Amino acid sequence: MSIYRKSKFEINLMKQAGNVVALVHAAMKETIKPGITTKELDNLAHRIIKANKAEPTFLGYHGFPATICASINEQVVHGIPSNDIILKEGDIISVDVGATFKGFVGDSAWTYAVGNISEENKMLLKATEESLFSGLEHMKSNDRLENVAGAIEDVAKKYKLGIVRQYGGHGVGREMHEDPFVFNYRTNNQLILQKGMTIAIEPMLNLGCDDVIVLDDNWTVVTKDKKASAHFEHTVHVTDNGPEILTKLL
Ligand code: MG
Ligand code: MG
Repeated sequence: MSIYRKSKFEINLMKQAGNVVALVHAAMKETIKPGITTKELDNLAHRIIKANKAEPTFLGYHGFPATICASINEQVVHGIPSNDIILKEGDIISVDVGATFKGFVGDSAWTYAVGNISEENKMLLKATEESLFSGLEHMKSNDRLENVAGAIEDVAKKYKLGIVRQYGGHGVGREMHEDPFVFNYRTNNQLILQKGMTIAIEPMLNLGCDDVIVLDDNWTVVTKDKKASAHFEHTVHVTDNGPEILTKLL
């Protein structure tokens, strides 16, 4: 495993990539409502990324056909936007988006409520967001990646939620997926975090069991028990003073 630590110059480029990603999420928050299709959301994300002189990182990545991943309800990640998928009241939708600016990548996901949602879905969103920020508290020099994972696991257990095991966070920057891989539960990982590491932390929590399967489109990941799943992700820079979130508005 080789972890590439970024220079101050490179962190600045990552902040600009992250700003574009945050602009997309701000637009998603405004736009997501009953009646809109996931293809319309994808088109909007694409326009924003291009208007800001960045490139959609996901488009064409291992053949992925869109700018965003749009995953509804029991879909966990990698849902493909479509004209045929129309959001309806009570849905939850996870939007994952990456933007590349001058060779550097920002990657962030958020799960949004479509109109009014059930109490258990509200809890799922609140808990998954809480688990992300609980993990992020450990993104500082000389802390351990194991503590990031453990903090996420503890929040999931507090709310009695399933934890997706097959997918997780990752180093990010010059490539969308760099070392290290980040499990969202304890694995006795010995890695000590150091200044300049840039890592996407992304818990995926489920109302039901941990298990997921991939649909016949070879992309869409769904929970095995068809219960809802949520996904919150930020690209984060490890500093001596704590986490610096890079996927936020400048
Ligand atoms: Mg992502
Ligand atoms: Mg990611």
